[in-house]
Amino acid sequence: VGVFFRPVEKINSVIETYPKGIAGFRRYTELLDTAPDIVDAPGARDVSGLTGEIRYEGVRFAYADGRPVLDGIDLHIRTGETVAFVGPSGAGKTTLCSLLPRFYEVAGGRITVDGIDIRDMTLASLRGQIGIVQQDVFLFGGTIRENIAYGRLGASEAEILEAARRARLDGVIEALPEGLDTVIGERGVKLSGGQKQRLAIARIFLKNPPILILDEATSALDTETERAIQESLRELSEGRTSLVIAHRLATIRDADRIVVVDHGRVVEQGRHGELLGRGGVYSRLASVQRAG
Ligand code: ATP
Repeated sequence: VGVFFRPVEKINSVIETYPKGIAGFRRYTELLDTAPDIVDAPGARDVSGLTGEIRYEGVRFAYADGRPVLDGIDLHIRTGETVAFVGPSGAGKTTLCSLLPRFYEVAGGRITVDGIDIRDMTLASLRGQIGIVQQDVFLFGGTIRENIAYGRLGASEAEILEAARRARLDGVIEALPEGLDTVIGERGVKLSGGQKQRLAIARIFLKNPPILILDEATSALDTETERAIQESLRELSEGRTSLVIAHRLATIRDADRIVVVDHGRVVEQGRHGELLGRGGVYSRLASVQRAG
C-alpha cells in the first residue's frame, strides 16, 4: 500500500510551509480553545448529540492573499457516510475540511450540520462533535492516562482502558512499568510514531464524536503498525460521518463515496469503479499513480 497521489516528502513540506493548516490550528486551538478572529456569534447555542449530516452550500473561501481556494462547494454528506477527498496537491481538500470545525470562516455560502449553520453553534460545542486524526499528534508532557483523558475530561478508568483497547494501545500500556501512569514526553518515555497515533485514536474513541476528520497519514510506519492503525481507524469511523483527506488506495476503494476536488471545485464524485470507468480527472490521477 503506497501513497496514492503524491510523494511523502511533499506532504511534510506542505505541513511545514503552512503551520496554520489543520495541524497548526489544531494545536493552537487546543491550547487557547479558539482561533484569534473566530468567536461565538451573539446568541450562538450549544449543540450536542448531532447525527452528523453535513451540507456545504455554495461554499467559497480564500486565505489572506485573496486568491480563491474554494470556489462554490456543494456537498451533502449523509449521516454515517465515509467520504474520501482526493485530487491534486493544492486542490483545496485540507482547506475544505478545515472549515467544518471553523478553523477558518467561510467567505461565502454556508456549512450546516443537522441543518444548523455551524456559525450558529458555539465553537466549543461544534468542536466537541468532531474528532480529528492527523499525522502530527498533539501530546503533552504528562501521563498516558492524562493524555487519553484529554479526549473527555472526567472519564472513568474503565472508559480510558476501553478506549486504549479499541485503539490497540493496551499492549503498549501493559508493557510499561507504570502502565497508564507512565509519564511520556521529554521527561518521560518517548513513544514511537505509531504509538502516538494510537494514543490520539484512543482519545477520539473516548470523545466519541459523531463526525470524524481524518488527514490520512503518509509517513512511513512499518507494515504491521500500519495495519493495526488502519484497523482501529476503520473501527473508529464506523457509525460516524467521516471526511478523509485520502492518500491510500485502500481507503479510497473502501469509501462510500470519493469526491474529487480540483482547483477548489468538486469535479467528480462516485465510487472507485464508477470514476475509473468515466475517464475523467480521477482516472487520470489513478493512472499517473500507477505509472509512478
Ligand atoms: P495537499 O494535497 O497538497 O495537502 P490540498 O488539496 O489539501 O493539498 P490545501 O492544503 O487545501 O490543498 O491548499 C489549497 C490552496 O491553499 C493551495 O494553493 C495552498 O497553497 C493554499 N493554502 C493552504 N493553506 C494556506 C494558508 N494557511 N495560507 C495561505 N494559503 C494556504
